[in-house]
Amino acid sequence: MPGTRRLALYAIVVGTLGTMPGISYSAPDAFYEPEFLWPKQDVTVCFGTQEQIPRTEILDPKKAGLAAETLDYFRAFPPEVRTLIRSSIEAEYTRERTGIRFVGWNDCDPAALSDVVLLGFSAPSESKAQLGYIPLGRASIGTSAWDGTHKLDPSLKAFVFFDWKEAFGNAVSVRDFKHAVLHEFGHVAGLRHNHVSSDYETDPFCIHSRAVSRVEKPGPRTMSYGAYDPFSIMSYCLSEWGWKNGSAELYLSDEDIEKLPAKKVDPTVLTPVPFRPGVFRWTVTLSVLDRETLRTLYPPKKTSSWPRRMIHK
Ligand SMILES: [Zn+2]
Repeated sequence: MPGTRRLALYAIVVGTLGTMPGISYSAPDAFYEPEFLWPKQDVTVCFGTQEQIPRTEILDPKKAGLAAETLDYFRAFPPEVRTLIRSSIEAEYTRERTGIRFVGWNDCDPAALSDVVLLGFSAPSESKAQLGYIPLGRASIGTSAWDGTHKLDPSLKAFVFFDWKEAFGNAVSVRDFKHAVLHEFGHVAGLRHNHVSSDYETDPFCIHSRAVSRVEKPGPRTMSYGAYDPFSIMSYCLSEWGWKNGSAELYLSDEDIEKLPAKKVDPTVLTPVPFRPGVFRWTVTLSVLDRETLRTLYPPKKTSSWPRRMIHK
């Protein structure tokens, strides 16, 4: 079942997080890692080389249990996929909308330092069988070394992709790939998954998709901002439901609406379809609260400070 498999493929960034005894959630919010926020608003991205792949922990042949020759199968993204990634990100992460934005987009030049190395490669079936799973996208959280992306090579602050065409044939659409791109750059901006909040249990999209079986643990310094947001690009649930549904149109029952914060949909993400009560068109985009959260973390004018409400002791 492609939709079900794809969930496992998504980046689950747990890194070195331990479980903290006595964690209590004061409020279910958007979660981020304050110590790994970028100290600037323009973050430079470059496209990495094939030689850099095995220097990421998740694709280190030994650690990933791959035959060394598997890496020979990987092929760099074609220009049109690079363009899709860049245009998706530049349209959504703007100075006005998010404060933080991503610039550069050249080949990684060893002489020029980039903040984020983007490794985009196709993973053909030979390597897929050995990997056992294909992460559609995977990313570090902000400037951290979580997920092992640059533990093996300090020059790598990697952001790793596989070519969806090779991995999934036509099963993954441009829309789904764009969702993965926006989601992973959310991690790069320092955001964690929404299901760090226990409120995912009553999130109607999570109930429909059964995308999240277990709440993720926050890290020792994880902070929160704003209200729980079922429409966030950092949630698995709405997108997984959309994938399972196989359509951009979703039906929300009255009961579903009741469970939403303020009993309302985010109008940027779900647009009512005229004359069809309960039917909404799903657009892959940052939610209103995603943008607000990022603008707060990366204020367009550097006059305000980050929110520092701790979610646990
Ligand atoms: Zn993720």
